[in-house]
Amino acid sequence: MEINAKTKTTCLFGHPVEHSFSPVIHNYLYRKYKENIIYECFDISKEDLKAAVEAVRVLGIIGLNVTIPHKVEIMKYLDFLDIKSKLVGAVNTIKNEGGALKGYNTDGIGFVQSIFDIGYSIKGKKILILGAGGACRSISIELAVEGAKSIEIRNRSLDNANHIVETINSNFETKAHCSKKEVDKDDLEGVDIIINATPIGMKSDNCPIDKNITIDKAVLVCDIVYNPHNTSLIKWAKSQNIETMYGIDMLVNQGLAAFKIWTGINPTIEDKEILKNMYNCTI
Ligand code: NAP
Repeated sequence: MEINAKTKTTCLFGHPVEHSFSPVIHNYLYRKYKENIIYECFDISKEDLKAAVEAVRVLGIIGLNVTIPHKVEIMKYLDFLDIKSKLVGAVNTIKNEGGALKGYNTDGIGFVQSIFDIGYSIKGKKILILGAGGACRSISIELAVEGAKSIEIRNRSLDNANHIVETINSNFETKAHCSKKEVDKDDLEGVDIIINATPIGMKSDNCPIDKNITIDKAVLVCDIVYNPHNTSLIKWAKSQNIETMYGIDMLVNQGLAAFKIWTGINPTIEDKEILKNMYNCTI
């Protein structure tokens, strides 16, 4: 793709940004769909965030992703928020609509799309989530939007977990609960979908559950940690022939959802597979 006077810009604001996979996702899609757009990463300090958002308007940047530590702080500089990003309380995607900046959150969408991609549904399902941070919050809201029957959150501290439970119970039919209790065999066999939304297993072989537990029921085990690809939790599940969903699926799908917001184009399953392979070659 040739960069010329008509080339538009999309970008990532975060700190740090140098290990981001987003430029690979978006620049691949722009080339494939012949969109005259590029994607760049900008390392933005907290102090510079307001000026950076002003620069989006002044320079006519057509869309941006937002990552740690700006996902919450940036909301106050935007003109509109979609309903789900309001419920999540964080934004990871912004579209510049003729100078008006609209915020979205595609993390939860990326997660549920990954479940749909492997042929599972969410409606009526009982779900256990480990962790109660930003990822748990966006995933929980999307699971509730999709009609999950119940969401049980387990976390070592309860403040954030209680907040998520309150949001779900006051806005959706889904019944949400939380506790600090260690996960045991009964917990795992009492649900349909188990999700690790803690960083446990990231660049380590730690596992968020006791690996000696065996389960005798068909469940789906999802790990949103994407480095390594085969986390300890995924290996535990595979050793028992349990169906799994990988962190890279969510990472790619949240990017594809942002691409669709900016361009209106729905990428194909083939795009997802190509991007997942590209990512796995980098780790
Ligand atoms: P976060 O906001 O920092 O939340 C982390 C959660 O995990 C918190 O509830 C925290 O508990 C808990 N936790 C952290 N370390 C723990 C430990 N050693 N033992 C027990 N619990 C622990 O992080 P996040 O944004 O939700 O992200 C969580 C993980 O998901 C990260 O590894 C991130 O890279 C990954 N992620 C993946 C994707 C994807 O696209 N695949 C998207 C987003 C995030 P406390 O509240 O008590 O501290």
